[in-house]
Amino acid sequence: MSPEYKPYTLRNFKEIPQISKLSEEEIFNIEVVGQVFPFKTNNYVVDKLINWDNIPEDPIFVLNFPQKGMLKPHHFEEIASLMKSGASKETIRETANRIRWQLRPHPAGQLDKNVPVVNGKRLNGLQHKYRETVLFFPSQGQTCHAYCSFCFRWPQFIGIDELRFSSRRIEDLIQYVSEHKEVTDILFTGGDPMVIKSETLAFYIESILEADLPHVRTIRIGTKALSYWPYRFFSDDAQLLMEVFRKVVSSGRHLAIMAHFNHPRELYSDEVRKAIKRIKETGAEIRTQSPLLRYINDDPDVWAEMWNEQVRLGCIPYYMFMVRDTGAQHYFGVPLVEGWKIFRQAYQKVSGVARTVRGPSMSAEPGKVQVLGVSTINGEKVIVLQMLQGRNPDWVNRPFFAEYSEDAIWLDELTPAFGEKRFFFEDDRCHDLQSVSN
Ligand SMILES: *Cc1c(COP(=O)(O)O)cnc(C)c1O
Ligand code: SF4
Repeated sequence: MSPEYKPYTLRNFKEIPQISKLSEEEIFNIEVVGQVFPFKTNNYVVDKLINWDNIPEDPIFVLNFPQKGMLKPHHFEEIASLMKSGASKETIRETANRIRWQLRPHPAGQLDKNVPVVNGKRLNGLQHKYRETVLFFPSQGQTCHAYCSFCFRWPQFIGIDELRFSSRRIEDLIQYVSEHKEVTDILFTGGDPMVIKSETLAFYIESILEADLPHVRTIRIGTKALSYWPYRFFSDDAQLLMEVFRKVVSSGRHLAIMAHFNHPRELYSDEVRKAIKRIKETGAEIRTQSPLLRYINDDPDVWAEMWNEQVRLGCIPYYMFMVRDTGAQHYFGVPLVEGWKIFRQAYQKVSGVARTVRGPSMSAEPGKVQVLGVSTINGEKVIVLQMLQGRNPDWVNRPFFAEYSEDAIWLDELTPAFGEKRFFFEDDRCHDLQSVSN
């Protein structure tokens, strides 16, 4: 049985019964930061995941509720003083928007790069960055059951993404993929495609199965619903969804649920366990991924527990990401070297079956860049990196070196080691997939 889904946003969060555990100041801070960043949680997260005896440090509370430090102090003060002086909604909104544009809403050309162009027409709602995998953003799935405070997709949830690159046109996807035989994977992403009703998802997925696409071997669905609304997989219209999952598997394809978990707490409820069981009964696999987040999971024990528990439940640890260079990266981000140390300590604590995970990895403009570690070469201390995915497939798995930096938290803060002017991938534009598809 599923309770009724009850979302809480800036408008009604004070109705949450447990909110009485917060001080007036803490509530005010949520209201201030919530002017800039999207805020949504729900009754499952509030009642089953957050430990309200551990507020405000509780990692799931930090995961869902706006945190004061997400705004730089001068931005916080700007909004706070407007609110205290009773400024109009209009004034507050204009100020919030100005701050939003200073938070790099579109890092690495998120929106305009990697969108395929066919016969001069942009196929919005598709993204093709890495040779094997095309992303599909169904327009009904551009929201989530709750919002993560650190989410790099934050601009699309507050409507400043004028392009809102999403699509209802499954035929565009099918046409494009049928002309690109190198594509083996279709990845449904969002937001969260699992907010879409089963009937619509069934239409999308069955259209792919019925099309003539033998080169498509894997269908993936990126979702956080196992954490934020596990009922999605066993109540209401879940039965139809499970039938569709079975159809994908019996078509001879791999169905991968790319599940987003940030903390082991998300794995212990009866609901999530039941949902995982139902998914696995269809023959689908669940692969797990998460960014490394200050105040939420910046501890090797937390990661080791999360991976071990996932393996116990039959899930496959997949990626550890670094926080992207947008929004509140200054608050949630962990420096690359520290990230590597946390990854390494966690990795050392688990057996080989959990070492399917790779990371820490930056989803940067040229590709997914993994921090392999710190080393000393000819007396020079360096950071060793490699690409797990590259805009040019030939870039993948070539170690490269950056000058050691304790503070760097993103690729663009690194300098090539050994006095070189550029990283090896910086003077090669000719294999850019974008220019190929143009
Ligand atoms: C991560 C990612 C993929 C999938 O990469 P895999 O390594 O195959 O999981 C595809 N497209 C984009 C844009 C990505 O960031
Ligand atoms: S579930 Fe994913 S897309 Fe949705 S808010 Fe969280 S990180 Fe962002």
